[in-house]
Amino acid sequence: MHTIFNLPIYIDGEKKLLEYIKYNTGKIHIISGNAEVLKYSLQDKTAYELFAAKENIIIPDGISVYRPIKKKVKTAQKIAGIDFMQLLLDAYQNTDKKVYFLGAREAVIYTLIPIIKQKYPNLNIAGYHHGYFNINDCADIIEDITQSKANILFVALGTPNQENFIFKYMNELPCMLFMGVGGSFDVLSGTIRRAPEWMCRLGIEWLHRLFKDPSKIGRMWNNIVFTLKAYHGVST
Ligand code: UDP
Repeated sequence: MHTIFNLPIYIDGEKKLLEYIKYNTGKIHIISGNAEVLKYSLQDKTAYELFAAKENIIIPDGISVYRPIKKKVKTAQKIAGIDFMQLLLDAYQNTDKKVYFLGAREAVIYTLIPIIKQKYPNLNIAGYHHGYFNINDCADIIEDITQSKANILFVALGTPNQENFIFKYMNELPCMLFMGVGGSFDVLSGTIRRAPEWMCRLGIEWLHRLFKDPSKIGRMWNNIVFTLKAYHGVST
């Protein structure tokens, strides 16, 4: 078991994870592991227990998770949340599995759905809803997802809201696969440009986000400090 601050990290890559999901019969929550997720999970015992639960799979997405693990385990493979989401969409084409998209601004989700339909014409879309609501008071949204009989739920509310939403409603909802996807709807809808390939490869997509939105400087600085700490938190 490979962990950072005692949280298990999935290091076997996209292909094996797809296979695992295909044959697993229980509920799964995929968490894109980054500095914000680690920081949030360590803030208190309750948050830690939620993140450490056995149905969660934390993928090494952000540099703060991937680099420290890779330094100790040479075979560890990075999985970018947005790439894995697209692999799932592709894998669920031509199946009876239904996908629900929850999150982002209303204009973004309305732009995203036709793009998804065009890119994945044989995907069964169960429904969609924007992400500007109170996660503690959203019975209508829970009802809509339940009625849609969605099997897969992508939640784009940002961390920690998306994880908290999934922790709270996972058992109540009929879906079997849940994934928090941060700003992926913005990128896939063409609203925000993803960092260039070379930046993703170097693990510095956060620098691209900083250029786009300099107000994130405080948050990013905290993340850099946290990344340095994460190197000491790895256990293999
Ligand atoms: N978002 C949302 N509801 C909220 C706050 C954010 O749906 O109450 C969406 C936001 O529109 C964006 C995504 O969550 O599509 C990621 O948000 P943010 O940029 O804060 O997260 P980051 O990607 O920087 O972690």
